[in-house]
Amino acid sequence: MRGVVVVGAGHAGVEAAAALRAGGYPGPVTLVGAERHLPYQRPPLSKEVLADGGDPDALVLRSEAFFAEQRIDLRHGTAVGIDRAAQEVHLAGEGSVGYDHLVLATGAVPRRIELPGRTLRGVAELRTLDDAAALRIGLARAARVVVLGGGFIGMEVASAARKRGVDVTVVERGDRLLARAVSAPVSAAVAAHHRADGTRLWFGDHATELLGSGGHVTGVRMASGRVLPADLVVLGVGATAEDGLARRAGLATDDGVLVDRWLATSDPRITAIGDCAVVCDAAGGRQRLESVQNATDQGRYAAARILGERRPFFALPWFWSSQGSLRLQLVGVARGPSQLVIRGDDRRFSVFCLQDGRLTAVESVNDPGTHMAARRLLERVTPTEAELVAADYDVRALARRAMAGETAVA
Ligand code: FAD
Repeated sequence: MRGVVVVGAGHAGVEAAAALRAGGYPGPVTLVGAERHLPYQRPPLSKEVLADGGDPDALVLRSEAFFAEQRIDLRHGTAVGIDRAAQEVHLAGEGSVGYDHLVLATGAVPRRIELPGRTLRGVAELRTLDDAAALRIGLARAARVVVLGGGFIGMEVASAARKRGVDVTVVERGDRLLARAVSAPVSAAVAAHHRADGTRLWFGDHATELLGSGGHVTGVRMASGRVLPADLVVLGVGATAEDGLARRAGLATDDGVLVDRWLATSDPRITAIGDCAVVCDAAGGRQRLESVQNATDQGRYAAARILGERRPFFALPWFWSSQGSLRLQLVGVARGPSQLVIRGDDRRFSVFCLQDGRLTAVESVNDPGTHMAARRLLERVTPTEAELVAADYDVRALARRAMAGETAVA
C-alpha cells in the first residue's frame, strides 16, 4: 500500500490528512508543504497579526505532536512534478513519493499585476506568514500607506493600519468595495465604517505606475494623473489558483484545477480541494471559492471519498471578515441579480438575498445572531418569500421550525 499523498499543507490539506486518520485510513499519509512553518491559519494574518502581532501559538493549525501521533508524515518541501503513470510525486531535492491516491491542496497566490515599480522596496502583498511578518515591519515604519484593491484583504489591512495610526488610502477600480462578494447596501456600510475610521477611499481609478526614490516606493501614479504619496503600497488585487503542478501533469485546468462534483480531477486517482479547485457541475456551472469553510469541508469530504463515500460533495458556503469593529458574515451564494430585503438599522443589519422567490444568501453586518440562524436554516431549507414574510423575516424562528422538521425541505 503506497497510501495517500497530500500536496499543500494549508487549511484544506491538513484537514484532509487529519480526516483520513479520524476515518480510520490504515495506510501511509504524507503531507507535503512548501512553507517552512508548521501549518497555520491564514485569516489572522490580515487581522490580529498586523494590528497587534497576534499570538503565534494560536496560529498553528495542528501541533508537531499531532502529526507524529496520527502518523502523518509532514514534509517541508515543494512538489515539482507528478508522474501519473508511475503514481509518484517528485519533491524538489528530496526524491519521489508514491501514491495510491493524490490530493492537490495547493491553494492560491496573490494575483500578479504588471505595474512599473512593482519591485521597489515598500511594495507588499499578503498571502503567507512571512508576508505578514514583513508587512508588519513595513507598517511600523510607514507614515502613509496606499492599498490597491478594495476587497476583503485590502480592507482588513486598511483597518489594521489605521489601528496602528498610519494614514491610509484605499484605491478601488470599481465603484464600490467588496463588489464581487456582497450586495450594494453592505458595500455602502463597509465604506461608511472605513471613512469613519479615517481611511480615504478612492473609487473609479487605478494605479498605472509605482514611483520610487533610492529603490523605495514614494507614491502611486493613477490613471487619472493624480499621484498618491506613499511609503508603503499593499497590493490587494485578489488571488489566482495555484494550479501549475496540475497543469504540468496534464490535468484539466482553467484558472484552477477542474474537478467534478466528487472533487475528482481529470485523473480519477487525483483529487483537488480548497482554493486551487474549480468545481464543475453537469449544467456547466463552475465555482472556485476562497474560504476556510470551503477548504476544510472539501478536505473532510476528500478523505471521506477515499474511504468510500459515494455521494457528491455539497456544503453550504459561509465566510466572515472582521475589519476593526466591523464584523461581516456571509452565508449562501447569490448568483446574478437578487431581490434584497434589509432588516436592522445602520449599525447592525442583515440583507436577505432572494432569487426566483427563494432565499439563497444572507449578508450580516454586526449581526452574528441572524447569521448563525440563517446558516442553520439554509443548511436545511431555502424558504420562499411567502414563508419569510409570514415569519416577518425572523430567521431564528424559521431555523427552529426547520430543525424541528416543521418546514418542507426545498
Ligand atoms: P492555502 O491555505 O493557500 O494552502 C496551500 C498551501 O499549499 C500553501 O502553504 C502553499 O505553500 C502550499 N503549496 C502550493 N504549491 C505547493 C507545492 N507544489 N508543493 C508543496 N506545497 C505547495 N477565509 C475566510 O474564510 N475568512 C477570512 O477571514 C479569511 N481571511 C484571509 C486573510 C488572508 C490574509 C488570506 C491570505 C486568506 C484569507 N482567507 C479567509 C482565505 C483562506 O485563508 C483560504 O481560503 C484558505 O487558506 C484556503 O486553504 P487552502 O488549503 O486551499 O490553501
